[in-house]
Amino acid sequence: MTRPATRTRAPRPRSSTPLAEPLLASTPERLAAVAARDRAADGHFVFAVRTTGIYCKPSCPSRRPLPANVALYATPAAAERAGFRACRRCRPRVAALADPIVDAVAAACRTLDAAAERVPLASLARAAGYSDAHFHRAFVARTGMTPAAYARAALARNAQRAQAAVTLRYATTRTPLGVLAVAASARGIAAIALGDDAAATMRDLRRAWPRATFTRDEAGLAAVLAAVAASLDDPARALDLPLDIRGTAFQRRVWHALRALPPGMTTTYGALAASFAMPGAARAVASACAANVLAFAIPCHRVVAGDGTLAGYRWGVGRKRALLDRERAVVGAVSGTRGGGG
Ligand SMILES: [Zn+2]
Repeated sequence: MTRPATRTRAPRPRSSTPLAEPLLASTPERLAAVAARDRAADGHFVFAVRTTGIYCKPSCPSRRPLPANVALYATPAAAERAGFRACRRCRPRVAALADPIVDAVAAACRTLDAAAERVPLASLARAAGYSDAHFHRAFVARTGMTPAAYARAALARNAQRAQAAVTLRYATTRTPLGVLAVAASARGIAAIALGDDAAATMRDLRRAWPRATFTRDEAGLAAVLAAVAASLDDPARALDLPLDIRGTAFQRRVWHALRALPPGMTTTYGALAASFAMPGAARAVASACAANVLAFAIPCHRVVAGDGTLAGYRWGVGRKRALLDRERAVVGAVSGTRGGGG
């Protein structure tokens, strides 16, 4: 059957002729545009579905019909003369009136505004039905920012918002590696800092949780502080306390991988990235390591540069070296490294 199942418009001229209206050829390009929900094809033709009697613009979000059931028409009017009804979802008759990329950019902004993790441009463009380059240009033209810059700003805002109302209790003690400060939320240990003095560790805690309220609680945190200090003292002893870990999905993925590294082992930013099947992402991995606020509980000190140098450390490269030296001493001469680095 080539006739639509539903016909509401009558009378129709030459209604006995199945193909009374000129069908557009179902070229591979047009069918591909339908399959890809390509907005760039909107306004050039509509596709009708013989089994439902409904016609849509190419970008309609509805489920794709079997190609065998698709009939293409140059205009909504042609599809309607052939007996098809306009889709209520994509409203193909008004499609030509508005530039759809305006809506697409607005939708992308809403996605980024709500994102708790990085959203790649390609997925935004694909969702909107545009090529990466076209969508990027349209995004910059309408927001004045690249999608990446917009996403960074939104992520930072969302991360701060997530922290906003937190109250953290903290306590400090002296260790061979300097002053140790521990801050805890109701969910667990939220930050661990090492510094030359109490003021330095306090600065680090505030940098880690810029919107939090801090209250000193030496008595309440005595047991927690002792446990953290003990795990610093003996790297083989795992810190068996809940951590309040906040971060993007990617950061949490990196941190999780770090916690799986045994004491005394090191890896490189590049090897970690490669282990995520993201070979170009060494810098992103390094950023995630740098964003860690839980010194040695999330052992970012076990990640070194590709050339074997220690690279940076939030709590000082000297402490990074000291942590690695103690771990190697405790676990014995661990043979080499994991992942090719230093
Ligand atoms: Zn539709």
